[in-house]
Amino acid sequence: MLMTKFNILITDGLDERGQSILRAAADVDDKTGITADDLLNIIADYDGLIIRGMTRVTASVLDAAARLKVIGRAGVGVDNIDLEAAKKRNITVVNAPTSTTAAVAELTFGLMLALAREIPRADASMKQGEWLKKELEGVELSGKTLGIIGYGRIGMDVGKRASAFGMNVIIYDPNITEDELKQSNAEPVSIQELYAWSDFISLHLPLNVHTRDLVGPLAFSQMKDGVRIVCAARGGILDEQALVNALNSGKVAGAALDVFEQEPPGLTEAVSHPRVIATPHIGAQTAEAQSRASEDIANEILSALRGESLRWKVA
Ligand code: NAD
Repeated sequence: MLMTKFNILITDGLDERGQSILRAAADVDDKTGITADDLLNIIADYDGLIIRGMTRVTASVLDAAARLKVIGRAGVGVDNIDLEAAKKRNITVVNAPTSTTAAVAELTFGLMLALAREIPRADASMKQGEWLKKELEGVELSGKTLGIIGYGRIGMDVGKRASAFGMNVIIYDPNITEDELKQSNAEPVSIQELYAWSDFISLHLPLNVHTRDLVGPLAFSQMKDGVRIVCAARGGILDEQALVNALNSGKVAGAALDVFEQEPPGLTEAVSHPRVIATPHIGAQTAEAQSRASEDIANEILSALRGESLRWKVA
């Protein structure tokens, strides 16, 4: 029997583990870093497209994608794909949602500890030959209340770690089920209660029309004085200008951001603020997460092309 060989395009890099799975079954072109114009010119040749967070799969890209059957996101967020346009053209969208959970939860925890003890400032001062022992008095996580907004895969993983650190965990998630709650120590509260009671707030919800700028001036005004905020979810959920204002007014004691309204953000007021710890969207950047994501998405893309059942169909 003659087997059709599929053409697969990779545009944002993919770990070798996934690439080798794909190469065994398909022709694979890795054109990482391709410009938007070049993508428009070549997309017509491919059955499958694998991206991460950089490539924007717009309606124009999909219009040019004459034979495209599936788009795979090697990771979680699919806000860079026009899902409606893909649906209209019968193009399946899949992701690898479980592969990066532990990596993002661990980074979140690292950022929370870094904020509580000002670890980046302590290190930077040592490298200037200083000894700021007296100035660098931090706070403890133990005994504090952590408010988690978005209690899905990553939010729950952060919650488990927080409980182990002796934190009181409260959560806001409109879609949480009784069953999911039973498996955790977290207490569901309203968003206003979460803002009013939390010493630390961590965001783990998706970016969409309902959540854009969710954490803006009104939200900050409802928060406890001296709150510390971590966002390793998506840029655009937290209003960066409102955060800068809340830091300057003393409402917010510190913030740690892994994601930004524009990426890369450059030296914005938020990034350069002395009480902001900024990391360049490294939540999923661990060897283990990238390897798992590449394997999961390679298998899922091949299943989609072969018409087999799918584990992680987004649209
Ligand atoms: P998930 O789908 O498992 O969980 C998201 C949760 O948010 C769901 O339970 C949903 O009910 C909840 N939610 C939706 N709208 C909400 C709202 N208005 N208020 C409160 N909760 C709401 O997703 P996940 O895998 O846990 O990912 C969470 C976030 O982390 C996503 O934004 C994802 O893009 C981001 N992420 C970031 C990185 C990174 O590198 N920093 C890596 C992976 C994922």
